[in-house]
Amino acid sequence: MSDLNIQHIRSLFPILHQEVNKHPLVYLDNAATTQKPLSVIEALQTYYQLDNANIHRGAHTLADRATGMFEDTRKAVKQFIHAAEAEECIFTKGVTESINLVAQTWGRKFLNAGDEIIISYLEHHSNIVPWQMICEEKGAVLKVIPVLPNGTLDMDAYHQLLSDRTKLVACTWASNALGTINPVKEIIEAAHAYHAFVLLDGAQAGSHLEIDVQALDIDFLTLSSHKLYGPTGVGVLYGKRALLEMMPPYQGGGEMIKEVSFEHTTYNEIPFKFEAGTPNIGDVIAFKQAITFVNNIGKSNIIKHENLLLQHFTSGIHKLNQTFGSEQIALYGTAADKVAVQSFIVKGKHPFDTGMMLDARGIAVRTGHHCTQPLMRFFDIEGTVRASFAIYNTLEEVDILVEAIRNMIHKPAF
Ligand code: PMP
Repeated sequence: MSDLNIQHIRSLFPILHQEVNKHPLVYLDNAATTQKPLSVIEALQTYYQLDNANIHRGAHTLADRATGMFEDTRKAVKQFIHAAEAEECIFTKGVTESINLVAQTWGRKFLNAGDEIIISYLEHHSNIVPWQMICEEKGAVLKVIPVLPNGTLDMDAYHQLLSDRTKLVACTWASNALGTINPVKEIIEAAHAYHAFVLLDGAQAGSHLEIDVQALDIDFLTLSSHKLYGPTGVGVLYGKRALLEMMPPYQGGGEMIKEVSFEHTTYNEIPFKFEAGTPNIGDVIAFKQAITFVNNIGKSNIIKHENLLLQHFTSGIHKLNQTFGSEQIALYGTAADKVAVQSFIVKGKHPFDTGMMLDARGIAVRTGHHCTQPLMRFFDIEGTVRASFAIYNTLEEVDILVEAIRNMIHKPAF
């Protein structure tokens, strides 16, 4: 058992204490978005009740206060990911925007015809489509690291794909569909040997894994606040200063400029060069409380507890397969090194029907292709049911899920 007081942690999340379809809510859709602790909700409310003002340009107390709090979150992000400087942390609206920013600025300036970008079979659509778009525009070529049946990357194939033509490797740190944690150290070292840059999609790593961008020598890292107990509409793009300084701005407008005339405009320093317009001030400020929440528990405690939940679930499924026959529940993503995400299909049931049957028992899971259609095609399936666990989930909740799955074996959909 983990030493954490999970009941205390649960008490910090008001949303968890409700019934859904006459059953206590069992929220297992954390890879899609995590719930928010009261500290985050209160920070948002306090901001609008007491501190609301536009930031950076104001000569009044509220503007100063809001600016200070906004920049405090940047400092918290810097520490959270062990960046060298807060200025290397740019606020966006999420991982999707962070990746598009790199594709549309770095990609547009530095990619040439025949250059290659390597992604992997495990990518979320948001780490596929922006690269396809810029490759098409620039005549660059997209290469894909294949995946093995257990959901790990074929690293031999990766090493074969790398060449002097490789300009960027854009790869997820942890798979949202299968949970696989990729060997990012090896990926980065191999890419750097060819002078290629590496962008890691940290959407799923943010709340589950220790992050040290300097130790790993990461060039770009993307995060979404809403996947790590913070508000929606806030993301981070980390980039090494030298890279960010070489990149042209993303959007034009207020804040990203130094001097504007009708003839010529000069641009602001980083991070402001990439933060045109009024940002999502209140949510950025509340995001700091989410980081504090994670720091207070400690990543190592989070990892330990979530691993326990994942193991409890997979061993529950293995027992069901032993009882009812090994074909009853197929698990997708069986790598040894995983975040607490498990995809599965109950034999003879469409994932959507399974999801509806679980919802009838108050259990929230995600069904479908999880924005990873190429990966689903690799497994020759349309989609899966995905249970994804967070720090506030309990072993009892896992038992409720396993029991609900047991009850649907051999039963017609509806
Ligand atoms: N990458 C991964 C691995 C994800 O899980 C997600 C969200 N499902 C994204 C990218 C996109 O993140 P967002 O929707 O917050 O931009």
